[in-house]
Amino acid sequence: MYPFSYQRATGLAQALAGLKADPQARLLAGGMTLLPSMKHRLAAPSTLIDIGRLDELRGIARDHDALSVGAGTRHGEIAADATVRASLPALADLAGRIGDPQVRARGTLGGSIANNDPAADYPAAVLGCRAVVVTDRRGIPADEFFQGMFTTALEPDEIITAVRFGCPRRAAYAKFPHPASGYAMTGVFVAEFDDEVRVAVTGAGPGVFRWQAAEAALARDLSAAAVGSLSLSPEGLNADLHAPAQYRAHLVTLMTQRAVAALASASA
Ligand SMILES: Cc1cc2nc3c(=O)[nH]c(=O)nc-3n(C[C@H](O)[C@H](O)[C@H](O)COP(=O)(O)OP(=O)(O)OC[C@H]3O[C@@H](n4cnc5c(N)ncnc54)[C@H](O)[C@@H]3O)c2cc1C
Repeated sequence: MYPFSYQRATGLAQALAGLKADPQARLLAGGMTLLPSMKHRLAAPSTLIDIGRLDELRGIARDHDALSVGAGTRHGEIAADATVRASLPALADLAGRIGDPQVRARGTLGGSIANNDPAADYPAAVLGCRAVVVTDRRGIPADEFFQGMFTTALEPDEIITAVRFGCPRRAAYAKFPHPASGYAMTGVFVAEFDDEVRVAVTGAGPGVFRWQAAEAALARDLSAAAVGSLSLSPEGLNADLHAPAQYRAHLVTLMTQRAVAALASASA
């Protein structure tokens, strides 16, 4: 690990001022991704600005058709929260399957989507639920937020404060986890809204994406059989020591079918 300085932010304004003053400073939320990256010398921030205790980034509330979750909310809190479980149980289910108990006790929603790991789980729910990522200065629709591997629409000095999830009629998440880390080898989030069905895929490609062919098929017939004959081209999908692209393409169809089958017992 390279040397760095540490500041605990006492408010959002102070954290923003720290980022503006030093382009090499980085926010520290749960530290579950940033600290291992620093230990491996893959990241060398000059200063860590700890936002882990900011009240402005906390809170979960249902507001008409949206569920607002503070960026600093930890995975375990989302999994257990009564409002999330009532409004969007598929999100609680997804959060409860991230990593292991230690990761769920420390990792945050904001840290996960800011990092935008191609195998992270939340991006599938954020994109599937047509969420808006709320920052200190604007709201960014999910369709514009995720821009490929470890890349988002965030400015370098921009802080995510919350995510406003749309609440579908029904939703479900199916994941084929990596057996060691729990990251998604492939994960598919299916959400049924009054006017559309959305299918968001994580883990399979360089970033989360919508599978439009499946969305069109499911809009006509919301059944696992409707996607059974669909296949996604492996071109451009991830290929690594864990699985070739063809395997991940197969998993996309399979996980989509499992998510659709799970919709039968799901409510919004
Ligand atoms: C062993 C292990 C297993 C894991 N398994 C899974 C898994 O199964 N599924 C999964 O999805 N993830 C998994 N993760 C990742 C985990 O969910 C992390 O918590 C998450 O990726 C990062 O969140 P964090 O709060 O720890 O962020 P940090 O590590 O603190 O920060 C990550 C990045 O986000 C930036 N950042 C943090 N908060 C904000 C904000 N509010 N606004 C703007 N930028 C911000 C930081 O500056 C940093 O660049 C795993 C991690 C580990 C170590």
